[in-house]
Amino acid sequence: MRAESVFVRLESRLPSVQKPIQYVGGELNSVVKDWDCAETSGTGGPTVRWALMYPDAYEVGLPNQGVQILYEVLNERDWILAERTYSVWPDMEKVMREGDELGPIPQFTVDSHRPVGAFDLFGLSFSTELGYTNMLNALDLAGIPLHAADRGEDDPVVIAGGHAAFNPEPVADFVDAAVLGDGEEVVLAISEVVREWKAEDRPGGREELLRRLAVTGNIYVPRFYDVAYAADGSIEAVVPNRPGIPFRVRKHTLMDLDQWPYPQNPLVPLAETVHERFSVEIFRGCTRGCRFCQAGMITRPVRERSIETIGDMVENGIRKSGFEEVGLLSLSSADHTEIGEVAKGLADRYEGSNVSLSLPSTRVDAFNITLANEFSRNGRRSGLTFAPEGGSERMRKVINKMVSEDDLIRTVATAYSHGWRQVKLYFMCGLPRETDEDVLAIADLAKRVIAKGREVSGRNDIRCTVSIGGFVPKPHTPFQWAAQLDHEATDERLRLLRDVVRQDKKYARAIGFRYHDGKPGIVEGLLSRGDRRVGRVIEEVWRDGGRFDGWSEHFSYDRWMAAAERGLAGTGVDVDWYTTRERDYDEVLPWEHLDSGLDKDWLWGDWEDALAAADGADIEVEDCRWTPCYDCGVCPEMGTEIQVGPTGRQLLPLSVV
Ligand code: SF4
Repeated sequence: MRAESVFVRLESRLPSVQKPIQYVGGELNSVVKDWDCAETSGTGGPTVRWALMYPDAYEVGLPNQGVQILYEVLNERDWILAERTYSVWPDMEKVMREGDELGPIPQFTVDSHRPVGAFDLFGLSFSTELGYTNMLNALDLAGIPLHAADRGEDDPVVIAGGHAAFNPEPVADFVDAAVLGDGEEVVLAISEVVREWKAEDRPGGREELLRRLAVTGNIYVPRFYDVAYAADGSIEAVVPNRPGIPFRVRKHTLMDLDQWPYPQNPLVPLAETVHERFSVEIFRGCTRGCRFCQAGMITRPVRERSIETIGDMVENGIRKSGFEEVGLLSLSSADHTEIGEVAKGLADRYEGSNVSLSLPSTRVDAFNITLANEFSRNGRRSGLTFAPEGGSERMRKVINKMVSEDDLIRTVATAYSHGWRQVKLYFMCGLPRETDEDVLAIADLAKRVIAKGREVSGRNDIRCTVSIGGFVPKPHTPFQWAAQLDHEATDERLRLLRDVVRQDKKYARAIGFRYHDGKPGIVEGLLSRGDRRVGRVIEEVWRDGGRFDGWSEHFSYDRWMAAAERGLAGTGVDVDWYTTRERDYDEVLPWEHLDSGLDKDWLWGDWEDALAAADGADIEVEDCRWTPCYDCGVCPEMGTEIQVGPTGRQLLPLSVV
């Protein structure tokens, strides 16, 4: 495919689409390189070219940290060129499909408006499975055959990454490869393999390139594995179908985050986006052991950035982007061993300036009021958000989120007495062995929060917003064997809760109630724990017009169910089989050949502990950052270790130049 820019073909059509600026590119800190940058930079050898995609609209995709980091890491090499592409909205899709006298306008990158089909590699980052139909749409618009098996020598190698890639089986027919874990080093390793293969004049064609990637044991190439099914529909075995291909593919873990302080040149969006701030990841991984949390399980062990690197990244990011808000990112930011020093150091540095700090995720037990005060010293005092996740103490024991009701009340009392008026609480509905009573306990908790807030502040304008999401069991977690609650039961439980809250005249007006219906969760459940047979369902949905399934206004449950009816016909399995069915130990799970490092027996033992906790047992898995290792398997399997402080160091004031 020719690599010429399609911008001239697009330009006259831009006024007819919504937010045309999102397709224009040229953001501050974006990079445009020569198509033959290896040659022009004098490096020599072939150029390796990546198109990177976050498969959602620009407003969601641009702030994505993962894509921004890889974009920068790749472009730092003068023999690699990386450009970005995002999902186009339906109005733009129509324009592109109508095309002009040259034919349809292909999926293009926003940096140079080159056709995605002209690149060597097309990398997609999936943080949610609901982006799969957007991938098919992008492939089709790009003129790349949907099925990996139909791709020719000149088509890009399509590679999936991100958390959803820990079970890429539902998209196994559409991707050439998948990578698990941290992307920084592996994208460079892949680029090296491609460079060498191109330099040798592409021996053995596409098949040989994929073989070279697969034999590393670090890159999963689905076509090199056969899946056999038993008569009852379950998987009998997944085995390599040629010599030299490993039985299991391992995840990647980046050690020493201080050596990788990206993004160093944050992209500044041209159009409005979901996050308008500069984010610094202060640590990666989480070992709190919440059983529902896939992110916590697959990103082990914890690796902290040092206080100095955090300070340098914040300073550099603000200077290069002009953002006024800095978010300190991680799965549970207040758990950084030196979060107090980080917060104080940054608040001191930026006192009196326009820079404000935010801490997006906070555990109830890691929160203290000094910390909250530091974060609000220079900015707005926005609401505080906590995530007890389970409404009752019993449920919190089942999920291993050991936050007691008294802890929560104590914490919110401190917050309300220090001037906060608004607290948000996150919960899940549909957890294993949950009953109506467990969900109704959310109402009692919210009422106690309001009552305490009124008592300590002496005011009546105290608010508590309860936000509830449906629980979806995820691969590589102790709940991977659990039955998902069907959407009717989820909706009914939430209706009961809403009625109980509304009927209470004393508290109803002070409690906000936000929840989503249970249907999208069932589709997410199907895609999360699906196998290769689910690929036909995804394709049917896309052919039936499915796009942007993460957006409620575009999502259609009926379309998914009708597609599942057709796509799974003759397989002996259906949506319930994938979602609302509990699995047993012996069942071969679709992702069992993909190694996240977690030991299967440890996961199973933890699942049994959850069931025992549901029956009243008092078993807590503590955090291995502060207690001895409990052998989840990750560190010995991956050759990694926990990297945490405290270092005892402090942030020095910035010197004025
Ligand atoms: S192997 Fe041990 S130290 Fe490493 S993450 Fe698992 S429990 Fe923690």
